[in-house]
Amino acid sequence: MRDFSLLQYRSLLLDLQQAGYRFFTVAQYARSVDDAPNVSSCLPAAPDACRTAILRHDVDLLPENSVRTAQIEHDLGIRATYYFRIVPESNRPECIRRIAAMGHEIGYHYEDLSTARGNLSEAWRFFSDNLAWFRTFYPVETVCMHGAPRSGFDSRDLWKHYDYRSLGIIAEPYLDFDYSRLFYLTDTGRRWDGYKVSVRDKIPVWQDRWNEAALTWHTTSQLAAAVRSGRLPAQVLVTTHPQRWTDSFVPWMRELLLQNAKNIVKRLLV
Ligand SMILES: [Zn+2]
Repeated sequence: MRDFSLLQYRSLLLDLQQAGYRFFTVAQYARSVDDAPNVSSCLPAAPDACRTAILRHDVDLLPENSVRTAQIEHDLGIRATYYFRIVPESNRPECIRRIAAMGHEIGYHYEDLSTARGNLSEAWRFFSDNLAWFRTFYPVETVCMHGAPRSGFDSRDLWKHYDYRSLGIIAEPYLDFDYSRLFYLTDTGRRWDGYKVSVRDKIPVWQDRWNEAALTWHTTSQLAAAVRSGRLPAQVLVTTHPQRWTDSFVPWMRELLLQNAKNIVKRLLV
């Protein structure tokens, strides 16, 4: 099976289901931590009943691909969370509507401080306006940073001066989740051990502990084998970029070559 194909993605979801993982959206998880102590008390080596998976999708570009992963999840009875950027290569109303109609959560993948080149009041205005735009499609309750590796600005720095909670946002996964309980995986760099080449999409300190515990995998089939053998921690947040998951050969090959080239550049930035 080709890696980063939809076939491979579906197979990973089936393995997670077989292993007893229950799926939460980001908003559901944020609430469950507040409301249900049985979930928040589940430590990494917890009993099967605690197995929890959150699927976070960053729709950086090619939103039609996200409609495909959303359909696969929907067919398996899974709800995931899709974060859209405001830029035209992500922000496609018909895709947002279709994904929301399948019961998935929609969130805002913000990069406003980067867009405003560090101007805080302008970034806050952009953020408020863009959030209002996405709320015309879905009652957005969670937001998540877009890493923008080439930008000198980390858009999360906006929260040193402004509070997203004042706009009714209940969670930003990078800032509000407790990674002593929640294991983080991302396909950044088109690999599952992309923390080595990621500029901002990683969890500092905890990633070092996970490395020490050998909780790292490179390919999706290695990750799936870990799920089947019970090696994956009980609570996981899995981030994917659906633009790179495709069954069509030409886009698949383009993504493979492009990401290998990008990883070389990003390794220099890190
Ligand atoms: Zn992104």
